[in-house]
Amino acid sequence: MKCANCKYCSYEGAGIAGGYKCTHPDIENSAKKYEEIKGKTINKSYSHIGYHMIKTSLRYCPLKKF
Ligand code: SF4
Repeated sequence: MKCANCKYCSYEGAGIAGGYKCTHPDIENSAKKYEEIKGKTINKSYSHIGYHMIKTSLRYCPLKKF
């Protein structure tokens, strides 16, 4: 799965507040689960994909098994 082809990916805002966001309803739960399982901390807003489109998807993409 790639964010670029995903219906949940949308560009929101403008300038410094803008960027690609994941609008999947489970993104927050999925991110928390990822942090718990992997013992990692995500140091950004969970829904933030990036200021530029990424090549794949978020590590904690809810459509992905990890
Ligand atoms: S993280 Fe997953 S659900 Fe969210 S926009 Fe990217 S591919 Fe879609």
